[in-house]
Amino acid sequence: MEPKEKSDFIRDIINDDLKTNKFNGRVHTRFPPEPNGYLHIGHAKSICLNSGLAKDYNGKFNLRFDDTNPEKEEQEYVDSIVDDVRWLGGNFEDRILFASDYFGQMYQWAVELINKGKAFVCDLTADQVRESRGTLTEPGKESPYRNRSVEENLDLLDRMRKGEYPDGSKTLRAKIDMASPNFNLRDPIMYRIVHAGHHRQGNQWCIYPTYDWAHGLEDSIEGITHSICTLEFENHRPLYDWFLDALGIYHPQQIEFARLNVSYTVLSKRKLLRLVQEKHVSGWDDPRMPTIVGYRRRGYTSEAIRNFCDMIGVARRDSVIDVALLEYSIREDLNTHAQRAMAVLHPIKIVITNYPEGKSEELDAVNNPENESAGTRKIPFGREIYIEQDDFREVPPPKYYRLSPGTEVRLRYAYIIKCEKVMQDEKGNVVELHCTYDPETRSGLPNANRKVKSTIHWVSARHAVDAEVRLYDRLFVKENPDDVEEGKDFLSNMNPASLQVLTRCKLESMLASSKPGDRFQFERLGYFAADIKEHSASRLVFNRIVTLKDAWTKIELKGQKK
Ligand code: ATP
Ligand code: MG
Repeated sequence: MEPKEKSDFIRDIINDDLKTNKFNGRVHTRFPPEPNGYLHIGHAKSICLNSGLAKDYNGKFNLRFDDTNPEKEEQEYVDSIVDDVRWLGGNFEDRILFASDYFGQMYQWAVELINKGKAFVCDLTADQVRESRGTLTEPGKESPYRNRSVEENLDLLDRMRKGEYPDGSKTLRAKIDMASPNFNLRDPIMYRIVHAGHHRQGNQWCIYPTYDWAHGLEDSIEGITHSICTLEFENHRPLYDWFLDALGIYHPQQIEFARLNVSYTVLSKRKLLRLVQEKHVSGWDDPRMPTIVGYRRRGYTSEAIRNFCDMIGVARRDSVIDVALLEYSIREDLNTHAQRAMAVLHPIKIVITNYPEGKSEELDAVNNPENESAGTRKIPFGREIYIEQDDFREVPPPKYYRLSPGTEVRLRYAYIIKCEKVMQDEKGNVVELHCTYDPETRSGLPNANRKVKSTIHWVSARHAVDAEVRLYDRLFVKENPDDVEEGKDFLSNMNPASLQVLTRCKLESMLASSKPGDRFQFERLGYFAADIKEHSASRLVFNRIVTLKDAWTKIELKGQKK
């Protein structure tokens, strides 16, 4: 898509910068995750935004790990993030970068700020620093160590780096303004002492830079032009600018946008980690998780996620996006791409008593009515078939037009049948139906167009293959999972029925050769994907991606009517 077609405040800024040649016509963005968890749909928004800008403006996009906090970071997360960004279509070429590779350069710049009288080593503890920061109405108190000489500061920083001091005993702080109305400028901390091994640097460092000190330097080193972050960093921008100006180095532009929130969904890494660690879900890739690995396993396409991110756009005001919009975008995508198939999830057997024993035939079925080039396939039909339990009622309620004693329905792509007899076990449960069929009602025969009130799906009992099918619902019952009673937490809003495992499903024979990750529309039931972990030729396992019912268009239509 041409940049002109999309329009938002970030593109306005970039267009202006291109006009004034601010960055020599360059656009270079980045996605800077901290490798302390798996990516979620909020990160997808940032990835689509940043990589989309690079693409539309013929620029570049970096994947950069903000690995400045050794205690929570792991290689497992790095690997999954690389994989997810690639899957989402973020084109970082060969630029997988690590902030930790810049630690040496950052240290030199810290020395430079000390030499300029703009940084000092402070012996206050973290608590003391916090207490001396002041309030909104009162200025903070200057540290008693603020006026150390340059020499003393250089010596102390050197010894901090060499490991002479215990964790938390000293920090390096910028010397800015303890009376600034912006707290972030009240002599912020640049380095902390943390004696912890780093997943890439090993034990080379025992001082680690803070986000505020490191982030602008990382952007500057990489020649980033537009450093896009979420709104909570707006008040940090003056500090971002201060560090770069104090050093007089290349200066990218920080731009803030509103983070994505989705209804019925938690997107805090801390909470997602709890769901995993406390085993409320089967793992980061549980198909109910809002993680990229979760959506992938569920069967979402990257196309659908990108379209969703395009639809919601970028804004400067926080809002909550209806999860139904995400479901709508996956439906839209699969409607045109997913092969149709027939599957019966809660089977009940029908014997067609006037169909010759031992006979079977092949009927034509359309692969995708939205896409003629997908063609047709043969589906087997025989004397015994399965239909959904729900498509039969012994005592039909008013306006129930599916099968009941004495009534007729059409079998999709096949014949009209009539229910003649209901077989029950000794407890009165319906176990089998005996029906007759009208042999003239198949496609191409004289009564092919005879009308009955409803059409249902089915599979041939002799040809059907067994499968396990997993149905998912929202993980939380409340639109805002954090809306809890006092003393409870978000876990109290979990949906106890978010997973339903059906182990007796009967599928159209064609699905026996499906491969992990293949997606289908099971007619009338929704879109399903063969599980990428557990599905195999000997054990078919399908996940429901989404139902067919589209809550989103209804919401929109309702809105229009008003
Ligand atoms: P934390 O920093 O608390 O660990 P985080 O979600 O900010 O959590 P990061 O790894 O720092 O995690 O995020 C990487 C990038 O993704 C950041 O630039 C951040 O702005 C962006 N991001 C994170 N969450 C969202 C969201 N919900 N919507 C849009 N962008 C997001
Ligand atoms: Mg963050």
